[in-house]
Order: sequence, then C-alpha cells, then structure tokens
Amino acid sequence: METKAAVFRKVGEPLSIETLELDEPKENEVLVKVVACGVCHSDLSIITGDAPMSPPVVLGHEVAGIVEKVGPRVTKLQVGDHVICLWLVPCGKCFQCLNGNQTLCEASMPYSFSGTLLDGTSRLKDKQGNTVAQLMFTGGFSQYTVTPEDSTIPIAKDVPLDKVAIIGCCVPTGYGAVVNAAKVKPRSSVAVFGCGCVGLSAINAAALVSASPLIAVDVESAKQKIATDFGATHFIDSTKEDPVTKIQELTARRGADYAFECAGVPEAQLQAFGSIRSGGMLVLAGLSPMAATIAFPSFFCALLEKKVVGTLYGSIKVSVDIPKLIDLYMAGTIKLDKMVVHKIKLEQINEAFDAMLKRQILGRWVVTME
Ligand SMILES: [Zn+2]
Ligand SMILES: [Zn+2]
Repeated sequence: METKAAVFRKVGEPLSIETLELDEPKENEVLVKVVACGVCHSDLSIITGDAPMSPPVVLGHEVAGIVEKVGPRVTKLQVGDHVICLWLVPCGKCFQCLNGNQTLCEASMPYSFSGTLLDGTSRLKDKQGNTVAQLMFTGGFSQYTVTPEDSTIPIAKDVPLDKVAIIGCCVPTGYGAVVNAAKVKPRSSVAVFGCGCVGLSAINAAALVSASPLIAVDVESAKQKIATDFGATHFIDSTKEDPVTKIQELTARRGADYAFECAGVPEAQLQAFGSIRSGGMLVLAGLSPMAATIAFPSFFCALLEKKVVGTLYGSIKVSVDIPKLIDLYMAGTIKLDKMVVHKIKLEQINEAFDAMLKRQILGRWVVTME
C-alpha cells in the first residue's frame, strides 16, 4: 500500500514529503494508521547529524494510532485497537529482560537504531524501489507504519490519541527518571536542568512526590512560566546566574538531593553534578551528541559519595508504566494537555524543526494526520 511520509534524505536538509510503498505486516507485526506523532529533539539530532543515521529514513517516534491490520501469529492486538507505539521492544526472555531491565533488551537493542524491524528489514520503499529505514521501530511521520506487536500497546478508546502520542518518548523518559531511576523520596530537594518535554515530565513527576524546593534550570527565561505550571517552585536562567551557587542558596548551602539533566548538554551535566549535595544523585536522562564527553571531578565523586546514574527511556517497565501514565493523564495528574501546545500537518513538519533550532518551542508540537 502507499503511505505519505516525511523522509530524511540528507544531513542539514529539510525532510521531503514523499509517497512511499509500505509492505504488509509480517509475523508478530501490525499495520498502524498513525493518528498523531510528536516531534522530538532526537528526530532533530538525526537531521543535524548529532545522532548519525544513514538516510533515507522516516523519522518520528512518538506515535499513537489505530491498528488497521495484524500480521500472522499476532495474539495481543486486534484490528481497531487504539495504540501507542514504543521505540522499545522488550523480548521478555533475554538476560536483561529477565533482570527487569527492559530498556536494555539484548534481543531488540541491536535493531533500535538500525532503522529496521526485528528481522533486520524495513517495510518501506521509495518510488525508485530503494529501501527506506524507519526510525526506532516506529517511523511515525507517515500516514501508516508497520510496528512489532510487542512495542504496540493497546489503550482505551476514550483516550485522546493526539495527547498521549508523547507517552511514546518524552513523558516516560522524564517521569521514569524520577520514579524508576532515582526513586525520589517525598519532600526531597530536586533540580531539573532543561525544560523541554523530558524536563517538564521530570518536574511533573517530582511535584507528585512533593519535591521541595523543585528547581527548574534552563538557558531561556521564556521557559519559566511552563516550568512553574508543571510544579517548579523556583526557576533559574543559567545564562544570567550560576545555577550551582543559586541551588546551594536554595538548599541550605548543602546542594540538591537529586539533579536531573534532561537536555543532554555537557555543560549543564557538569553544573548538575556541582549542584547535588554530598551523597546526592545526578541522573543523566538527556541524550548528548554521540561524541560528547564530560570531565567529572572524580575525586569529589568518591570523597562526597556523589552518585551519577544514566537512564534510557525512564528505565520503564512497559506493562506497568505505560498504563500508569495513561491513568495519570486521564486523572489530570500528568499535564499532557499543557505540554501538547501546537498541532501541525505532516506537510508542516519542517516548520517544527526550524522552530526547534531557533528555540521557539515551549512544550510539544505534534503532527496529526488527516
Ligand atoms: Zn524522543
Ligand atoms: Zn529482552
């Protein structure tokens, strides 16, 4: 069948809107009619070359949609199911899955960034017959996509798909950093560096355990209002004042119990390390450019028992965390309505990346298909 999609063809160039050929779902795969797909900074990182991936690729990995067709041996999904598509396919059988680390699944991880499904092939071709990769099992900037059954999570039909699409990436990444990776204790002091949607989700989660103070840090003052709306008690513009000094002031000169770096910016990661107290924990939740490194003062890491923890996708357990996030949204506890600030058509996709590059985005832009 045909599907209209936004295709990454060359580093630094706009995505091209093309009609592609999409193959039928194979064993344990489903065809999903995409209703909405969030525009994530990781998509931009591929366009800018910060996260290398060989073109052509259909980007987009925050997908919500409706199952249109099921492949052979699919048992968990039916035609008509409303679903969220994840970029994580836990096999449930490998060493990491059996040890509770689904985000590190050894069976699926090698394919996460290969642009293929689990059999090592993509279902997409262009008009010249060339294979087109699909980003992280999803490839959501497309009217239709074929995804693995195990990463396609059914949800209730009264849940608005254009809002919960972002549960495909940024929401669990920020929420899970707080709840799963750090297990933040109630009333702790928390600093969140980076107030994009991962950071806002971390602030939202920290506010739910009454973190205080809950300090948001960003390089743009324009983020203050939305950070405060999500529960931040203080906001620091790190271009105007030193966040380490200010966080010390706000925490009885001790430093924060926890800091979360959600932007993947090495300078902010170092500031976040400096802002935690002795015995405190820094959680790195944002993906840096692949070549980035930071020089930690390792002497103080040991002397002051500072803990540095990495987390991918909020270290989620799919069957536990995704239904919980849907319930929290429907109960009004996580604020996706405030996060999804702008809906665009597929043809406007490059406007979203331009706005992202110019740092004009507060909250999430979501592509909705007609
Ligand atoms: Zn993402
Ligand atoms: Zn596994």
